[in-house]
Amino acid sequence: MTINKLKSGFRYFRETSFKNKSELYCSLVENGQSPHSIVISCSDSRLSPTTMFNTEPGEIFVVRNIANIVPPYASDAGFHGTNAAIEFAVRELSVSNIIVLGHSHCGGVRRICEATAQPTESEFIDTWLSSANYVVKSDLQGRELYKYVEHEMVINSTNNLFTYPWIKARVESRELEVHSLWFDITSGELFSYKIETGWTSI
Ligand SMILES: [Zn+2]
Repeated sequence: MTINKLKSGFRYFRETSFKNKSELYCSLVENGQSPHSIVISCSDSRLSPTTMFNTEPGEIFVVRNIANIVPPYASDAGFHGTNAAIEFAVRELSVSNIIVLGHSHCGGVRRICEATAQPTESEFIDTWLSSANYVVKSDLQGRELYKYVEHEMVINSTNNLFTYPWIKARVESRELEVHSLWFDITSGELFSYKIETGWTSI
């Protein structure tokens, strides 16, 4: 039973990591959390920001969704889960960094690429992904196309962050930095994007 595996995993965690860091957990409860960064990553089961960045509890605030999308700013009454998490991290917790983390072999990106040729049906998935459909403008095919779109999705999400007025203001006043990263699950390499240099290995 899978749930039993999770239960025994939890018991192991409680007896080891949690016990060893009980003072840290108590301090985080007494003083509240004060993460230095928010990571916006894909929900993909093969990557874990806290594991990848080797962080302690309380260090990073994480929001995950399919294909690490940051929707454009919208001041309407919709149920904006990702937007709300970003606002909480930036305006309530005053994080210093926003990190958009994409990855290789992304199922969401693959779906975007394939949906342009063969529309699929879903209740929520394709509507969510449609905000990024425009990035599929390339003559590339297969894995090369997916990688290109994975990169563009990270850049698109990063650009969308600047449509949030309170993010733009904090970046301009140097209170906040924005970073674009892409993780290659196969090789274990992490790449960073900057306009001046393109994608470079970290
Ligand atoms: Zn993904």
